[in-house]
Amino acid sequence: MSPQERAAGPVDSTRSPHARLRTLAYRSVSLSGGFWAARQATNRQVSLPHGYRMLEEWGNFDNLRLAAGLIQGKQFRGYVFQDSDVYKWLEAVAYELANRPDAELQAMADEAIALVEAAQAPDGNLDSHYQVAEPSGRWVHLDYGHELYCAGHLFQAAVAWRRATGDTRLLRVAERLAGHIDSLFGPGKRAATPGHPEVEMALVELYRETLEPRYLALAHFFVDQRGHGLLGKSRYGSLEYFQDHVPVRQASTVVGHAVRQLYLTAGVADLYLETGEEALLAALERQWHDMVERKLALTGGVGARHEGEAFGEPYELPNDACYCETCAAIASILWNWRMLLATGQARFADLMERTLYNGFLSGVGLDGRHFYYVNPLLSRGGIERPEWYACACCPPNVMRLLASFGHYLATSDASGVQLHHYAPATIDADGLALRMETEYPWQGLVRITVERATGAPRRLALRVPGWCDQAALRVNGQAVAADPTAAGYAAIERAWQPGDTVELELPMAPRLVEAHPRVDATRGSLAIERGPLVYCLEQADQDPAVDVMDVEIDPTRPLDARWRGDLLGGVMAIEAPGYALDLRPWQGRLYRPLGGAEPGRRAVRLVAVPYYAWANRGPGAMRVWVPAAR
Ligand SMILES: [Zn+2]
Repeated sequence: MSPQERAAGPVDSTRSPHARLRTLAYRSVSLSGGFWAARQATNRQVSLPHGYRMLEEWGNFDNLRLAAGLIQGKQFRGYVFQDSDVYKWLEAVAYELANRPDAELQAMADEAIALVEAAQAPDGNLDSHYQVAEPSGRWVHLDYGHELYCAGHLFQAAVAWRRATGDTRLLRVAERLAGHIDSLFGPGKRAATPGHPEVEMALVELYRETLEPRYLALAHFFVDQRGHGLLGKSRYGSLEYFQDHVPVRQASTVVGHAVRQLYLTAGVADLYLETGEEALLAALERQWHDMVERKLALTGGVGARHEGEAFGEPYELPNDACYCETCAAIASILWNWRMLLATGQARFADLMERTLYNGFLSGVGLDGRHFYYVNPLLSRGGIERPEWYACACCPPNVMRLLASFGHYLATSDASGVQLHHYAPATIDADGLALRMETEYPWQGLVRITVERATGAPRRLALRVPGWCDQAALRVNGQAVAADPTAAGYAAIERAWQPGDTVELELPMAPRLVEAHPRVDATRGSLAIERGPLVYCLEQADQDPAVDVMDVEIDPTRPLDARWRGDLLGGVMAIEAPGYALDLRPWQGRLYRPLGGAEPGRRAVRLVAVPYYAWANRGPGAMRVWVPAAR
């Protein structure tokens, strides 16, 4: 395989010995329209130029200029991990430039890359906080220092630039820094593990790109060092915050800071893909079940607590007080992608889908220049997306995931091609050129046309989402039974010919869902879903006389989906029969003996919109879970 054929997006599993699925060459998937292409266009045209201005305004670029000696007389500004925002933004620009050349973005990125190059010290050291503000603190505080975290984001950006554009400027910087880190840490050198995981998956990717075994060994070392208390107690008094309470191979739960936890599991999954060590995969499986069965919001959001930005106890899933950081949703997507590559099992793609369309996408406003850090499932009003944050981890993280969306659509293996997510796109892999057409997530018909084929028998596998139990499959218009051996995927093997079509029909009737009875915050309540989307009630869509906090939904009557081109850039809205409560019997009381007068109620039609689109019309009240009428 030539480097260009091999070159992948964020993950290159084509040479990973324990990957069941191979990621595709970046240029072999091209979005051609639809839901995600529209978001990529906003990302490219609005978010990335906005990010560039914010990085200037908040001092990120000046920090690098100070480290490079290009300016004097200013102070370092921001958090210790301020450089990582620049790297995530650069990673996003690389993918967007591969999607579509853009002279303006290229010029912005060239300036930023030149700053990063200039800021690097002769010994390879690079971290503007420690170069400018705290030279004596370099590599002292591994718990909160974030040097390895920043290095990891540099490595990922560097790999992205090489893969997406062929540009190796950042890769040279990254390799010098990786060499410097390797001179300090490892067997026989200093024992340590980073307070904020990230460098693990980045080192594995740097290894995949360069085939330098020291980078894989170093990732292995940092993973092995975790769980032995090297980091000490966190500011919250626990080792769990850092996932340093138990060795990685013995972990069975997801705990502590959610982004740290899930960047770690993503890195451990990467290590498994290279080493095949079963104990790693077994631990990840235990942790996955703990998260999905006990600690996951309906939106795919994770992190129940503001304190420590952390996972809560099992079933501790508040709607208003949850954290559900946008970065934690992204971390979950990154981890589940690696689990999918390791196992080929659709449940990981299902969770990616839930998170992508809901808890991740709510992190960015429809205008592309406002961002949520915290994504609650209930707001009494007053919560808007700011333009940026002092701690701006989330906005550029959104940008890099949106820019690289095409990477996650499809994979190949020895038998053929797998389609995991649905969007209008062309896919060229494994001797098959495919055109995918769909109005997903609004309509459930996915149509694949074979545009080119070698004539050899190949297996085409299409994921049947977990929310769909009545999928129908047609080949050239004829109904076919999907291969029952491919759990979670409808698979057809044949000698494909140009012009062959495959249609997957995924009925998208709106549905009501309930939560496990132990989830206290949702007891007696229902939520609306349709296809991959979670819905919410926003005050803006209801009868002005109805307070969205005082409604019930009628579970006995059908929901009605209606296309609303005028609303929120075009959405499928759902009308639900329900009631508005008259709470006058409760006037002036918070509690009362059982048996008092029931609130009066009048029938209303509730209007639900996709959760991702909330708070784009002012900071009104919103709820995902709605009490069920008795
Ligand atoms: Zn964040």
